[in-house]
Amino acid sequence: MALMPVEEARARILKGVKPLPAENVPLHACLGRVLARPLKASRHQPPFDGSAMDGYAVIAADVAETPATLKMIGTSAAGHGFAGRLKPGQCVRIFTGAPMPKGADAVVIQENVEAGEKNLVRVLQPVRPQQNVRAAGLDFRRGDVLLPAPLRLNARDIGLAAAANAPELSVRRRPVVALISTGDELVLPGGKPGPDQIVSSNSHALAAMAEQLGARVINFGIVPDNLKATERAIGRAAKADILVTTGGASVGDHDHVQEALKNSGVRIDFWKIAMRPGKPFMYGRRKGQHVLGLPGNPVSALVCARLFLKPLLDALLGLPASDDLVEARLGAPMKENDTRQDYVRATVTEAPDGCRVARPFARQDSSMQRTFREAQALIVRPPHAPAASEGDVVNILRLDF
Ligand code: AMP
Ligand code: MG
Repeated sequence: MALMPVEEARARILKGVKPLPAENVPLHACLGRVLARPLKASRHQPPFDGSAMDGYAVIAADVAETPATLKMIGTSAAGHGFAGRLKPGQCVRIFTGAPMPKGADAVVIQENVEAGEKNLVRVLQPVRPQQNVRAAGLDFRRGDVLLPAPLRLNARDIGLAAAANAPELSVRRRPVVALISTGDELVLPGGKPGPDQIVSSNSHALAAMAEQLGARVINFGIVPDNLKATERAIGRAAKADILVTTGGASVGDHDHVQEALKNSGVRIDFWKIAMRPGKPFMYGRRKGQHVLGLPGNPVSALVCARLFLKPLLDALLGLPASDDLVEARLGAPMKENDTRQDYVRATVTEAPDGCRVARPFARQDSSMQRTFREAQALIVRPPHAPAASEGDVVNILRLDF
């Protein structure tokens, strides 16, 4: 059976995928969520002409020539404006964020004023009209689109929404990702591995990645290499939007995932991808559920998740597809490639001329998580790429999870 090219696999996974419904979520829970509808301002900010400084609200024409003596007739503080109206020759003590009194059109900073007896103040420097005044609507005006959609919300977005008096935002429901790890050899971190056992790391990395991308994760733990146990776990995960399994994806005597998925009503769409690492990746659907069968090797699992789970989560969240490849120069020669698309772990540094330089790690075994952690990018080598020399331009995929 011919291996499926990466791009075709991705297109098949994304076929017909629609964004999940929107829900209203309070601002404090919006970080990282994806805005479903644009946020429009329902008010001006600032809502009134206010002072940008501590000083004296004046009529600029009164202090065109200085020094000029004015009579202070009251105070305007933040939250407590001055009710009256300024007449020529008068001023009002004012503080940052306080509303401008009627009649005043500028603020003299307090450093340029000498306060004297009987509420008389001497202004030492002239001001222009509107100087040190924040006009109503300076920041934004009613009806302005403040946050476009779709948008993954960050701290500044949330601050702006709060300033616009929005207590909650309309965001996409988080896709639910169920995780199942398979393997008799696996024990949880912190456990006591037997002589033939290793510590399971896939579900931890995948959970973190999926959450970073905006998913809610349910971890169904480790399942032994046993058909019935695998079917039971797959059955329990039926409600998730996406089921992700790791391990057992080949056809060895101890690989039961494909059969268990089929017995559980999953229609396998394709299996085996023309890529390295990650060849045994499989994909299927069960009613509305997407099922991603990842290989067990940690680097293969994570690279497949980056290539296939991320675009699926993005699509469910209503985010546009992103072409994340950027160019870099090779820091070392590379051999010609075979029929599979390679994703080669590499460090990325900046050359003195500002160009990115990608340097592949010598060993690329898909069990090696340390080099995966230390890598900053994957060099993407298309099928049949010819041998490349140091300095040749290649595409890289930044590792940002
Ligand atoms: P499999 O795909 O089940 O044949 O597993 C391939 C390799 O990945 C084997 O060496 C497994 O021990 C290893 N492996 C499988 N699952 C995990 C896991 N959850 N964490 C770390 N290594 C794993
Ligand atoms: Mg296994």
